[in-house]
Amino acid sequence: MYKYDLHVHTSACSCCGVSTPEEQVKAYYEKGYSGIVITDHFVFGYNATPIPHDIPWKERIDRYYTAYLRALKEAEKYDGFNVFFGAEYSYATGHDILLYGLDKEFLYLHPETEKMTVEEICKLFQDNGCLVVQAHPFRDRDYNDKSVEPELDCACGVEIFNSCNNDEENQKAYDYAVKNGKIMTSGGDIHSAADGRIGLAGIITDRPIKNIFDLTEILKSGNYSLCVKGK
Ligand SMILES: [Zn+2]
Ligand SMILES: [Zn+2]
Repeated sequence: MYKYDLHVHTSACSCCGVSTPEEQVKAYYEKGYSGIVITDHFVFGYNATPIPHDIPWKERIDRYYTAYLRALKEAEKYDGFNVFFGAEYSYATGHDILLYGLDKEFLYLHPETEKMTVEEICKLFQDNGCLVVQAHPFRDRDYNDKSVEPELDCACGVEIFNSCNNDEENQKAYDYAVKNGKIMTSGGDIHSAADGRIGLAGIITDRPIKNIFDLTEILKSGNYSLCVKGK
């Protein structure tokens, strides 16, 4: 059995991140995971990304990619542990989507995404083989923009378990995914290597995942099980 967390932040590319890419890799390896997807807040956010907005687009992507590269390098120390590149993109305050199956070259080609609506982003990425997953869809916090619907039709996937959401929020996400036939994922949304919730979320596969494209195909195929509350 192989366990992967699909939603992990680092201090390298998320302002809210507490632990470095190296610390996150070590923590997840020690908790028995086979890998993680680095999903730092993408370069568009104003309070979430440490990457300046006024540098060339390619440089912004290169800087964003460094968290993943650092984690990947660290993973060489841990037998069988893998790291994949993803992104978390905010389309309104407190509303996010997770992007799986993209690579740096694809991002280089699409600086126009910064001006796109979330619907256009979903279409562009999904038309190009990516999987868009709505992150923590029913999370209800003071900072959430209440004018935006908590669920997004255009995303093919839904994070039905997020270890930072409460039971009621996760239940709503699950019910929504079942009702609408969405691909289901589970993610930790972990920002600190000391967070006791590492271990509660992820997917479990019966073979190791090779790369982010392999992961995306596995999610689309349904050939995995969900880890919810560590089970
Ligand atoms: Zn964050
Ligand atoms: Zn997150």
